[in-house]
Amino acid sequence: MDNEIASPAAEQQSFSLLRLLGLGRKPEMDAAAAAVHAGAGHSPQERHLGEIGRFLGQHGLPVTMVTLKVAWTFLTRADDDLVLALDRRILSGRELTLEWLQDITDRRDISDEATELRELMQRLETSVEEFGKSTREAHGAASEYHNALSGQIGELERVAKASAVISEMAQIGKAMLRRTHEVERQMLRSSAQTRALKRKLDEARRESEEDHLTGLPNRRAFETVFESEYRAAELVSEPLCVVFCDIDHFKRVNDEHGHDAGDRVLRLVAEMLAQVSDDRCHVARHGGEEFVVLMRGQTPAETQARLDKVRSELAGRRLVNRATDTPFGQVTFSAGVAQVFDYSDPRAALQAADAALYRAKLEGRNRILLADAQDGERKLAA
Ligand code: GH3
Ligand code: MG
Ligand code: MG
Repeated sequence: MDNEIASPAAEQQSFSLLRLLGLGRKPEMDAAAAAVHAGAGHSPQERHLGEIGRFLGQHGLPVTMVTLKVAWTFLTRADDDLVLALDRRILSGRELTLEWLQDITDRRDISDEATELRELMQRLETSVEEFGKSTREAHGAASEYHNALSGQIGELERVAKASAVISEMAQIGKAMLRRTHEVERQMLRSSAQTRALKRKLDEARRESEEDHLTGLPNRRAFETVFESEYRAAELVSEPLCVVFCDIDHFKRVNDEHGHDAGDRVLRLVAEMLAQVSDDRCHVARHGGEEFVVLMRGQTPAETQARLDKVRSELAGRRLVNRATDTPFGQVTFSAGVAQVFDYSDPRAALQAADAALYRAKLEGRNRILLADAQDGERKLAA
């Protein structure tokens, strides 16, 4: 007996192969599987293998090298004596036991057939293994390829989607960039235009609010600042005084020295009055040879005192006309001071200051008077 191929490992290997080919110990399953494998289109080796499986299945025999040898010999009719013995056994209805098969095969030399069978099975097994290996490899490769392909398809889809989105975004981005550049250029142009316009507006406002001769704020500017200072002082209950100034006998200056000389005197008086100005004191040319002063946080007397220094200084100077080198004589101004909140509104206060100025003129000029009851209708004291 060939012990080598009858070893449990070899038997198990063969059994596994048959199972793999659809053969097994359950008759119904094995028969069906064998029928499939014995069908048309299969090679003789495959048909034999199927018949072996069917034989083993019909007799409830396990797949061992002994049972395979018996089945092979019976089906191929390679040993007439063995086939006859099997036929008698089968026809008698007695079971084909492993012991009986072992005994009968021990007495018969079927090694050649067994060798052929072993070679056949080895070839098949090798083929199956190779096929399986190839299949596994193919499956693995296919799986890998599939995975890779799926990944690539997924990636492609993502890339395609991303590309579409990126492309779209790029187009939008380009359009935005172009638009941004255009807007930027427009903004630069607009900015330059705006700056130019602002310069012109500032210039226009300055011109509209500035007295060209003296450089002081003009009457319009004064009215504006008067309103704002009125509200600010009223808010914190600060005193606010308005002063109306007028150069005395200015007509004579013009008459004796000419208009240009009169302008130079006007500028000098403006400069001296402007010396008292700060963020709480505003000096403006009201018109002609008249000036107005707005002083916040100072009482009428304090305002009077501050301006009286200017008046005194001016009156003390001996001015000379550079053009003719002749003296102008004494240049003075008169003024009237009114406390704004003593009157119903800024205009009424300014009128009171003008009335006080008028009185200063009447009283001899070159003086500053505080407005009193006769200079305007005052509000009743709270
Ligand atoms: P009083 O003391 O009463 O104020 O006398 P006055 O001469 O100053 O007053 P009046 O109103 O009679 O004369 C004002 C003069 O101021 C008349 C005008 O020609 C002159 N004047 C007004 N504006 C200007 C100016 O911008 N430049 C020059 N040079 N003269 C001016
Ligand atoms: Mg005047
Ligand atoms: Mg005058």
